[in-house]
Amino acid sequence: MYKINEIFSAIQGEGLDLGIPSTFIRFSGCDLNCKFCDTHHDPVNGNFTLSELFGLVKELGNRSVIITGGEPTLHPLLPLLKLLKEDGIRIGVESNFYMPTPEGWEDFVDTWSLAPKAKVTLEVFPKWQAFGISVPDGTQKAVKLLHPHFSRLEIEYFLEKFQGIDFNYGFTFYIMPVNQDFTLHKTNNENSLVMAKELAREFPDLDIRWGTQWHKTIGEK
Ligand code: SF4
Repeated sequence: MYKINEIFSAIQGEGLDLGIPSTFIRFSGCDLNCKFCDTHHDPVNGNFTLSELFGLVKELGNRSVIITGGEPTLHPLLPLLKLLKEDGIRIGVESNFYMPTPEGWEDFVDTWSLAPKAKVTLEVFPKWQAFGISVPDGTQKAVKLLHPHFSRLEIEYFLEKFQGIDFNYGFTFYIMPVNQDFTLHKTNNENSLVMAKELAREFPDLDIRWGTQWHKTIGEK
């Protein structure tokens, strides 16, 4: 049975799949406990078999599914990923990249959205390198670096590892404010904007962008 926190239809409001109408499947539970977490991911609000879950996806009708949490890589989702892909559905996975991504997933996922939260995750470059090599050509890979959760120094330390490598393992790096409310957190958000522009100049070999969660701005879930 799949432990589901919620399943809903919405426009993807961030990252490389921005603007795609998608079905979000939020799996229950996480291996981290971030103070700024904006999801109530712990409760299991539904236990579904594979065919029940697939039926819900078909009912919602979107041709894109975002697998999220909590931390979805804690769940054995390979059969679900296979079934979605056989049906021609586009698959995005959102993960904190704290634990290794489960074996076999890379064959089915179109877009990885990796948002490290644990500081140690930024220090383990070989893990990022191995991941960059393991996914097939054409797979999209975003790394979301939250500011000020990570300081500018920490972000620079991380980006330096990728600069100067021929193909940078195909990552797109987003500098994102932790809190998306511009009225309440104007200074932090402006800092992240300025930082993204400066870092893009500082690391010209890298694909660096400023990112925010547009779904919150436009009132999408
Ligand atoms: S990793 Fe993500 S889902 Fe897990 S506690 Fe942190 S912000 Fe929440």
